Amino acid sequence: MTMDFTDRVTSVEPSATLAISALSKELSAAGADIIDLSVGEPDFPTPENISQAAKDAMDAGHTGYASAKGVPELREAVAEKLQADGLEHGPENVIVTPGAKQALYEIVQSLIQEGDEVALLDPAWVSYEAMVEMAGGSLSRVDLSPYDFQLEPGLDDLAEAVSDDTELLIVNSPSNPTGAVYSDAALEGVRDLAVEHDITVISDEIYKEITYGVEPTSLGTLEGMAERTVTVNGFSKAYSMTGWRLGYFAGPEELVEQAGKLHSHSVSSAVNFVQHAGIEALENTDDAVAEMVEAFEQRRDLVVDLLAAEGVDVAVPEGAFYMMLPVDEDDQAWCEGALEDAHVAAVPGSAFGTPGYARISYAASEERLREGIERLAEEGYL
Ligand code: PMP
Ligand code: GLU
Repeated sequence: MTMDFTDRVTSVEPSATLAISALSKELSAAGADIIDLSVGEPDFPTPENISQAAKDAMDAGHTGYASAKGVPELREAVAEKLQADGLEHGPENVIVTPGAKQALYEIVQSLIQEGDEVALLDPAWVSYEAMVEMAGGSLSRVDLSPYDFQLEPGLDDLAEAVSDDTELLIVNSPSNPTGAVYSDAALEGVRDLAVEHDITVISDEIYKEITYGVEPTSLGTLEGMAERTVTVNGFSKAYSMTGWRLGYFAGPEELVEQAGKLHSHSVSSAVNFVQHAGIEALENTDDAVAEMVEAFEQRRDLVVDLLAAEGVDVAVPEGAFYMMLPVDEDDQAWCEGALEDAHVAAVPGSAFGTPGYARISYAASEERLREGIERLAEEGYL
C-alpha cells in the first residue's frame, strides 16, 4: 500500500537545527570527538530548585490532566511576569503550551490559512517558515544581512515587503540566529507599519532574559500594539529547561479562545507537574538565571576575540547565545566540511534564509569553544 501524504507535510523539511544536532550526537556516539555548536541549548543543568519543585509536585499528586489552558497559578505567575515587562495581560490572556514552539504553531494555525501572507525578518529561526507553509501561507522575506542584522536600517525594506495583504509579521528580538536586539526606534517602525496595514505581530521573546547590557523592549508595550501583538516566551532558554517542554503565549482574549480549541484538541495541556516547576522558575530563580547569562556573555566575548584574532569579524550579538559567522557562499558545503574535517557542528545560514553564513551557538564551555575555533582555523575554515 502507498500512503498519500498531504502537501502540508511534504512541502517542508525537518528542523535543520535539530537534524544537525542529531547527526552530531550520532557521530559522537560512534566515538568521534565532535564539538557541537549547532543546537541552541544551554549547557547548564536546570537549576536545582526547579527540579525539586517538579519532584514535589509529582509527590503531591499533580500527575493528572491539568486545565487545558494551564494551571491557574502558572497563568497568574506568567501574567505577573508580563506585567513586569510592561504588558497589560491578565491570566485570561495566557495559554501555557508544551514549549514555545507549540505556542507559535497554535498562533500560526489560528491566524493563517491558504493564501495569507506572512512577513519574516531574515535570517529567521528555521521553524517560522515551516509553520507558515504548513498553514498554507506564503512568505514575504526581508533580508537584514546588509545591515549587520539590525532592523532599524532595514525599516525601508520592511515597508516595501508589507502591504494591506500582509496578515502577520514575526519579530524575534533578541534574535535566533543573529543575537541582534532591535532598537526602540526599530520597534516603533514596526508599530507604524503594523498599524498602517492592520497587521498582527508575533513578538517571540524567548531570549528576552538573555541579554548583555541592553534591555529589550516588549513590542506589545508600544502604543497601538496591545491589541495586535501576541507575545511568546518559554522556559527552555533562560531556565535551561529545553527538555521539559514548557512555554506560553499571551494575546487578546479572542485569540486565546480560538487557539485554545486547537490546543485542547491536540496537546490537551502542558505537563501538569512541569507547570508547577514553571511557577518555581518564574518566582525564585533570578540569581541562577543571572549567573548563566554572565557565563554566556563571557563566552560571547571569548568567541568574538578568538575570531577577530583569525581575521574574522562578526556582528557582535547583544542577546541570545548565537552568532552568524560569515563563510563561503555555499554554506551547506562549509558546514558539512567543518563537521567532517574539524569535527565542529554548525548550522548553515541558508536554513535561516541567509546563505553565506553559518550559525554557531556559544552555549558551550570556554574550553570547547576555544578548541572548536582552533580546529576550524587549522582545517582552513576561517
Ligand atoms: N523561538 C525561537 C526563536 C527559538 O530559537 C526556539 C528554539 N528553541 C523556540 C522558539 C522554541 O523553543 P521551545 O519550544 O524549546 O520553547
Ligand atoms: N531553537 C533551537 C535552535 O535553533 C532548538 C532547536 C529547534 O527548536 O529548532 O537551535
